[in-house]
Amino acid sequence: LVSRKKKAEDTVITIKGVEFGGTSPILISGPCSVESYEQVREVAENHVKRGLRTLRGGAYKPRTSPYDFQGLGVEGLEILKRIGDEFNLVTISEIVTPSDLELAAKYVDVIQIGARNMQNFELLKAAGRLGHPVLLKRGLAATIEEFIYAAEYILSEGNSQVMLCERGIRTYEKATRNTLDISAVPLLKQETHLPVFVDVTHSTGRRDLLLPCAKAGLAVGSDGIMVEVHPDPDVALSDAKQQLNIPQFNKMVDDLLASGLYK
Ligand code: PEP
Ligand code: MN
Repeated sequence: LVSRKKKAEDTVITIKGVEFGGTSPILISGPCSVESYEQVREVAENHVKRGLRTLRGGAYKPRTSPYDFQGLGVEGLEILKRIGDEFNLVTISEIVTPSDLELAAKYVDVIQIGARNMQNFELLKAAGRLGHPVLLKRGLAATIEEFIYAAEYILSEGNSQVMLCERGIRTYEKATRNTLDISAVPLLKQETHLPVFVDVTHSTGRRDLLLPCAKAGLAVGSDGIMVEVHPDPDVALSDAKQQLNIPQFNKMVDDLLASGLYK
């Protein structure tokens, strides 16, 4: 069902008037974790000033260590909903448990299925039955074929509102957090009709590589970029090292606009 052979034209997913997979690339941005109303609001206010229409933020955080911040849960979703309504932003948040999906769909516009859950087949099937837009991230060590099959799980349950996100894969290379597989973008665009995004934050794990990798992603045909921004990354409860502060984020937006790859 995800194949171009089944459907030649691009899938465009329209939420709150924002077209994902349409003619203009979309910047999906916001903090790694929802930490407080004030923190998310500060980011959202800047988004509105910059004309950005999406707001990401994790409420359920799949952390490597069980002792790290695990997210605010439903309280985090409530914060996103309140701010999304206030500023008319498309909200995106990761859900990790099938039984949380229905509740989460009442709070956020797009359900993210993260890299660690790309092959959580019960979660994929439940997201397919839900019929709410889904952003599916590539697994840490998933092949393109496995990634496409994961999306197929969601579509096969009747949900065609699926977007894909390349977020880097595990390789021997340690200079970056993961290895951004840039060729995945044109490949996924050729093989499937779904919108394809590039997450520059989790793939590189390096602030100095966000802009060049975002440009690369747009140049090879991605439908947009995901990047994390936090009012004060130094005190962030997750991904403190690679989130941008608001001035750095605005500079990145300006540089992308100047590149002509983003409008
Ligand atoms: C995220 O986007 O918040 C995240 C945890 O990313 P990933 O699942 O790609 O690691
Ligand atoms: Mn993060």
